[in-house]
This record gives sequence, structure tokens and C-alpha cells, in this order.
Amino acid sequence: MNSTDPFPRLLGGRLALDFVNAIPVTSDLSWEGLITFMQASQIATPERGRELLALSHSDPQAADELLRKAQRLGNALRNALEAMLHKQKIAREWIEGVNEILRITEGHDELGSVDGREWALEFVAREGGLEWLLAAVARSGAEIISEGTRARLRVCANPGCGLFFYDTSRTRRRRWCSMAVCGNRSKVAAFARRHALARSARA
Ligand SMILES: [Zn+2]
Repeated sequence: MNSTDPFPRLLGGRLALDFVNAIPVTSDLSWEGLITFMQASQIATPERGRELLALSHSDPQAADELLRKAQRLGNALRNALEAMLHKQKIAREWIEGVNEILRITEGHDELGSVDGREWALEFVAREGGLEWLLAAVARSGAEIISEGTRARLRVCANPGCGLFFYDTSRTRRRRWCSMAVCGNRSKVAAFARRHALARSARA
């Protein structure tokens, strides 16, 4: 991923895919990275996000535990998605990584007031704790996994990108995470290649 791109790029079309896309592949997820994702994907309000950011100082143990759980869930989802893409078997332990969050985030949906006029469905965890922040991600991942071969799961055709996305296009032939980002880059590269070929043919 280009370091100048805004983080996180929510191009996956499904929450679980955006989550996996936001987790660095070669390094560990940071607390700031996790909370930035929570805010960007509207799992946490900006106000709640600010409270959570402060948690790494006020209750580093709780923050650390949630971060570890988020990383585990991200790894489990990434492994499962990779297996689905390559039509390989999804290992029991990856499923367990998702189930673990689904289990501890037992709760129910209820209508909550957004601004005193509008109502939105909100997840209310049975127990307090921070795991509820991961509940929607685990739920979204579980839905994709349970779609099996019907899932329109794709990975961006730009080999330097690697973002997952859900193909909701009518033709089901979407190739890029984003036409504006990777699609155009590829077009430009193909044009440059053709141009270079034409030049060498003339020479
Ligand atoms: Zn891409």
C-alpha cells in the first residue's frame, strides 16, 4: 500500500474486508490504527474514539487485550479469505478465531436515538467490556465465510495492492479495489508499455 494513501481506505464493500485491509501484513496492528479504523468505519463515534485512544494510557492492560484480540481476529479472517480465494480448505483454527469473538460478544440489537429524531439499530453487548467493538467485524466475516463459493470475494488485480473487496458489480468482473487508485495506475502502466513497444518497433 502506498504510504501517501489516506488510511484506512474503506474500499472493501464489507466491514470484515475493510478490517483485514486495514491490518498491516508485515507488522503488528497498532492501537492508534485499530481506533482509527473503528472511527472511519463508524463502529465508534469520534467521541468514543477519543476515549478509546486515551485508554492506552489509563488502562493499558485492557487496551492491550483488545488489540491482541483484534489482531487474532484479523489474522483468522485473512487466512480464511485467502483460502476462499484459492479454493482451499478453511482451517478449523481460523474459524475458531472468528467464533471466539462471536461468542464473547453475545448481545442483542436495539433501536437507539441518533440525534433525537432518527433511530438506528445498535448492538448492545450482554456483558460490558471492549470486545463488542469487534462484534460487527466478526459477524461480517462470518457472513462472508458462510457464503462459501457464492461469496463474491476478490483481491485487487494490482499485485502491489492486495486489498480484498466484495464484487457487487452487475458483470461480476470487477478487477480493482478502486478504479481511481489501482485501475488508473494499471492503465497508465499499460499505456507506457505499449508506447515503449511502439518506440522500439520503430527504432
Ligand atoms: Zn488495489
